[in-house]
Amino acid sequence: MQQPDDGALVLFSGGQDSTTCLAWALAHYRRVETVGFAYGQRHAVELDCRAPVREGLAAIADWGTRLGADHDIDIAGSLGALGETALTSDTAIAMTEEGLPNTFVPGRNLLFLTYAAALAYRRGLRRIVGGMCETDFSGYPDCRDDTIKAMQLALNLGMSRRFVLETPLMWLDKAATWQLAHGLGGDTLVSLIVERTHTCYLGDRAHRHEWGYGCGTCPACELRASGWQRWRAKVVSRERS
Ligand code: ZN
Repeated sequence: MQQPDDGALVLFSGGQDSTTCLAWALAHYRRVETVGFAYGQRHAVELDCRAPVREGLAAIADWGTRLGADHDIDIAGSLGALGETALTSDTAIAMTEEGLPNTFVPGRNLLFLTYAAALAYRRGLRRIVGGMCETDFSGYPDCRDDTIKAMQLALNLGMSRRFVLETPLMWLDKAATWQLAHGLGGDTLVSLIVERTHTCYLGDRAHRHEWGYGCGTCPACELRASGWQRWRAKVVSRERS
């Protein structure tokens, strides 16, 4: 049950998914704060998108009155010390022996959720919102619904709280994520996501496509582009019928 009086803390990276989650939280809760993590990502492009995206969202409906503080947490030293992945060093993107892409940063989402819960505890926020998704994702085990449910239990036991971990994108594919954004904030939100969010693993802001900026060929760009095309095709066929 959603209780609008609950406050929410959104894990907000500046990418498409977390921006859609932030819009979702702003549509549901009266007090919404954001947290971003610097974890030694190769490209700071995504983090640079956070402030302009927040500004854009604050101009939609009454969201500006709901959007509260932004928090930055720097865990680059600790996570970086644990080893290299294709997201944190200049390594080519490839599959590992376990069948996982080497963009997987072990423990990353578990750490994010633990830090977020500690922050939510101090800020008196009950809902913790993240863009984890089982449907379109690269099989990251820390994005699975079971993992999130287990984390919710562990955090609530360990902090003696009743946090609710919300993952509005868990069962959506990328086409449905575009559709959700459109339902929440119409064309204004869709164009904000296209123009200001960043998803590309290579940090490319030089090439503009109809779905936004990116290299167009890395796995993150491919997901974003194919989701966009499937969503647009559905919209066009609905308009025709
Ligand atoms: Zn790319």
